[in-house]
Amino acid sequence: MKAAAIIPAAGSGKRMGSSIQKPYIILQGMPLLAHTLRVFAEAPDIAELIVAVSPGQEDFCRKQVVKGCAIAKPVTVLTGGDRRQDSVRNGLAAVSDSVDLVMIHDGARPFVTVQMICDALEITMRKRATTMAVPVKDTVTMVAKDTGLIQQALDRDSLYLIQTPQTFERELICEAHRRARAEGFAGTDDASLVQRLGVPVSVIMGSYDNIKITTQEDLLFAEAILQRRLAK
Ligand code: C5P
Repeated sequence: MKAAAIIPAAGSGKRMGSSIQKPYIILQGMPLLAHTLRVFAEAPDIAELIVAVSPGQEDFCRKQVVKGCAIAKPVTVLTGGDRRQDSVRNGLAAVSDSVDLVMIHDGARPFVTVQMICDALEITMRKRATTMAVPVKDTVTMVAKDTGLIQQALDRDSLYLIQTPQTFERELICEAHRRARAEGFAGTDDASLVQRLGVPVSVIMGSYDNIKITTQEDLLFAEAILQRRLAK
């Protein structure tokens, strides 16, 4: 089995409100994106890495992030698109034909582990399409945007927060992206594109550590998680 990892890291990072672009924010002496890439560099079954970055950041990423990670497998840095979905689609176009499985993982989730990657690949060999997720802890409800009133309480027992990695057979995720584009469908993750083809997506238990660094508060959590891991 041969797998490729696509790492979308081309978001605008507006919600971070920082002058430094999110992938290059330094955490414990290393750019955030380097933390993520290092895990994929270590994962034995990941044969190649494809990283999508904002237009104009390609060389900076190669020199300031990828080089420092000394990754002993092919790494392609390419230009992302306007939406996450576009960045992933650009990444898919660069995946080698010999690859069986494609794993897609947000560059902004540096706390993925080698074990999570191995488990996801192994399960996807049998299930075709998987996503990491964790059960919600809070009550989740729908609120009408115009009135600010609660519309519908949702059954917490069946609600999960979707994470990445999301892993798919290569042909399946390529077809899902082709169809989404042709039909004008926009999703915030890749599992939703596969699911609309009628192919079931299996949930694998993720980790509450596997946060997506989005706002300033997340950086505080990230530092705490790193401290705890270093202390082990
Ligand atoms: O926007 P969201 O928080 O869902 O972003 C998840 C991941 O997708 C981040 O790592 C971000 O950099 C990436 N992204 C991208 N291209 C975009 C928007 C987001 O690669 N146009």
